[in-house]
Amino acid sequence: MNFGVKQELDWNTLSDDDFRQRVRVFLEENYPEDFRHVQRRLRWTENGGWFRQVAKKGWLAPNWPLEFGGLGLAPAKQLIFLDEHERIGVGRYADHGIHMVGPVLIKWGTPEQQEKYLPRILDCEHRWCQGYSEPNAGSDLASLRTSAVVDGDSYVINGHKIWTSMAQDCTHIYVLAKTDPSVKKQVGISFFLVNLDQPGITVRPIKNLAGEEEFCEVFFDNVRTHSSNLVGGLNNGWTVAKSLLGFERIFIGSPKLPENALQQLTRLAEKQGLANNPVFQDKYIQLQLDVEHLSAIYQKYAQIATSGGALGSDVSMLKIWATETYQRIADLLLETAGPTAALLPGDDIGESAGNVLSAYYNARLPTIYSGTNEIQRDIIAKQVLNLPA
Ligand SMILES: Cc1cc2nc3c(=O)[nH]c(=O)nc-3n(C[C@H](O)[C@H](O)[C@H](O)COP(=O)(O)OP(=O)(O)OC[C@H]3O[C@@H](n4cnc5c(N)ncnc54)[C@H](O)[C@@H]3O)c2cc1C
Repeated sequence: MNFGVKQELDWNTLSDDDFRQRVRVFLEENYPEDFRHVQRRLRWTENGGWFRQVAKKGWLAPNWPLEFGGLGLAPAKQLIFLDEHERIGVGRYADHGIHMVGPVLIKWGTPEQQEKYLPRILDCEHRWCQGYSEPNAGSDLASLRTSAVVDGDSYVINGHKIWTSMAQDCTHIYVLAKTDPSVKKQVGISFFLVNLDQPGITVRPIKNLAGEEEFCEVFFDNVRTHSSNLVGGLNNGWTVAKSLLGFERIFIGSPKLPENALQQLTRLAEKQGLANNPVFQDKYIQLQLDVEHLSAIYQKYAQIATSGGALGSDVSMLKIWATETYQRIADLLLETAGPTAALLPGDDIGESAGNVLSAYYNARLPTIYSGTNEIQRDIIAKQVLNLPA
């Protein structure tokens, strides 16, 4: 079975500098200027062409092993790959196939599931979204109510998912559904693969604060999925879903978002003539130091991860520090732009006004997804500081 484009060489044999340089050159020469550091999720109609080009090069899955069509990168090289993408501001697409479904199927999937789905993720024919959260099951995900009941050779799914990022651009969804309501809530959940293009599924986009339709509600009304689309065994969905937390936990704490926002703030302050303003400088330097501290602590965790060590629960600190520093920079960005921040995108105030507002809106999001910051604080309190519950 051919799982993807054959790699032109074993990237892990290159020195880190050489590898970094090659990734950088490819991105600088090919990634469209218009889509660099865009402060919103790009739609598939916008960046689909780019990702198909990446797929043809065989670079879509840096985290997958070579034998499954990935780049087979060692952790240190994965971080460089990510770093270069963030440096140039490559936008994401509906990439749960690469980051979630692929790794899940490589770990838990049957050979038939791997053969059916992995090549189609690698050539962008299938794009996946995540059907976990529900109106009353976010942080407390195990309270989900969507059900899957066996009927002949299929499962019949009923329920309502929400905050499903980019579902309107996707062909498939992976779903956590209750398959045994009689047991402890985490135990009776299963992990299903579902085609979105079938009767009974309704995808309804939700407009966010910035006016973008970045996520959706997905309704399941007697939706059938063949029993061969159950992954990891019946009632084992919780374990399957949680099994990928590990190396990925570091990505969310990358200093790139605050670093980029700080650069944006620097440009804006120069245009506004605030370079020597002591009030501004006082706030600016505090943030600059916070970003430097974040960068230093990120390097510490990156070193643990890249040398094959396990990340402890204290890595939650990274997410809190990265996302809240980003928010504080976005706040000062808005304050510095003043009333001009309300101008429509494209009006030039030195820094595109639309970008100032977008940065402000976007900085709200990462404190919520991937486990809210309150949940991260709970983890630190219980598992690191051993505070009483
Ligand atoms: C941009 C974005 C994209 C997303 N994409 C997806 C997606 O593709 N698929 C998907 O399934 N979901 C997605 N989500 C949903 C996300 O996982 C949930 O929003 C998140 O888990 C929080 O759940 P909730 O919104 O129901 O809030 P709730 O869990 O109801 O929390 C509300 C507030 O209460 C606090 N809180 C809750 N429990 C506790 C506790 N035990 N201790 C202290 N404080 C607590 C929370 O921190 C929060 O401030 C996305 C969210 C965002 C913002």
